[in-house]
Amino acid sequence: MKKIAAHWQIIIALLASVIVATLLKQFGDAGWVATVLKICDLLGDLFMQALKMIIVPLVVSSIIAGLAGMAGFDGFKRMGLKTLAFYTLTTLSAVVLGLVIVNTMQPGLVDGQPNAELRQVFDNSSDQLSEADKARFEEGQQEKARDWTSIFKRMLPPNIIKAGAEGQLLGLLVFSLLFGIAMTQFPLEQMQPLKNFFQSLNDVMIKITQWIMVFAPLGIFGMMVVTVHQNGAAVFQELGPYFVTVLIALGLHLFVILPILLKVIGKINPLDHFRAMKTALLTAFSTASSSATLPVTMRCVQGNAGVSKQTASFTLPLGATVNMDGTALYECIAVMFVAQVMGMQMDFAAQMLIVISALLTSIGVAGVPSASMVAILIIMNNCGIPGANNAIYALFIVDRLLDMTRTAVNVFGDSCAAVVIAKSEGELLYQTDKKAF
Ligand code: ASP
Repeated sequence: MKKIAAHWQIIIALLASVIVATLLKQFGDAGWVATVLKICDLLGDLFMQALKMIIVPLVVSSIIAGLAGMAGFDGFKRMGLKTLAFYTLTTLSAVVLGLVIVNTMQPGLVDGQPNAELRQVFDNSSDQLSEADKARFEEGQQEKARDWTSIFKRMLPPNIIKAGAEGQLLGLLVFSLLFGIAMTQFPLEQMQPLKNFFQSLNDVMIKITQWIMVFAPLGIFGMMVVTVHQNGAAVFQELGPYFVTVLIALGLHLFVILPILLKVIGKINPLDHFRAMKTALLTAFSTASSSATLPVTMRCVQGNAGVSKQTASFTLPLGATVNMDGTALYECIAVMFVAQVMGMQMDFAAQMLIVISALLTSIGVAGVPSASMVAILIIMNNCGIPGANNAIYALFIVDRLLDMTRTAVNVFGDSCAAVVIAKSEGELLYQTDKKAF
């Protein structure tokens, strides 16, 4: 029997989960429904945890092995500069696009006036949030930055083991970069055992990724049944125009801006690239976590797009940590939307502050579900937008679908950098006959 392709398996799982969750809702609070949901939750958690389990060794081994293989410090410098330039360009265009769309569509206004109903929704939102969700949100807030300077502090964690244990990718990334660069400063013979070690560790992690992905449809099904079943709060309807604004902006970035950059800068056919990345895009969409998707992104970029291990190992872990186009764009729209509802005039200077804050905070946002909520709160407080706390609860309640979409955009942005840089390094792309997934 012909095997169903991985991306189809995931699409089927997504559709099935919507049907099952809708059916479950018909049965209300029946005891067995809770049991089914518990099992689904378990399946989803196991899948997410399995992906997260390999992130630390994968990131560390791929960056170190990749850097050690580069032609000394110069090779690193060249690739580093190109990568940073591309990431800055894509994030900046995402932020500007977000601002243009939110100023044009004005989702927080009705007939040019602040939407009073929405304001009420914001004020009541804290009652709509379950205690569990509130706790989840507060916990995230405590653990993460309260202001942008802490992004820089997190780059140099005082204890690298603790950073690993807490999944602080930014710190791990900087440490691995330093480690890899330091290795290039020694004669090759001396470093060969270390290089072999990290290379082998990386190979093993990739093998485990392939095993985990066999269970992707099951895990995604479980996760989505719970998500679809939980969501459905009335707030959804009220926030309709906001939803549409965010989805249009994310869609334009994903399907227009990034493909143009691929074509113009990389001379790459965007369709080839979408085809190569479909499993990673679907995984990002389902998990709403670019960190958890990283193992899959790496496999797709190498196995399907044909990017070398070295280029992928450098650009992708970096991208998953610091480059978040979808998140930066979302932050802008969210902050402007709340300002509109609250009747705050945002002049050019205020909007520039949002642009800079979104650029900076998107670097520090972790690649986990709803991570950008904290960044949005920071920006709103910096801009002095009243009622920020209530507004953030309302946004949090309806966040899942938007989070799923912006995470897919985040992951696609990283993958674009990988192929554009690979092309500029003279690598042959989209010629692999052995597909990753
Ligand atoms: N969920 C996003 C990611 O993992 C981060 C965010 O925007 O909340 O990429």
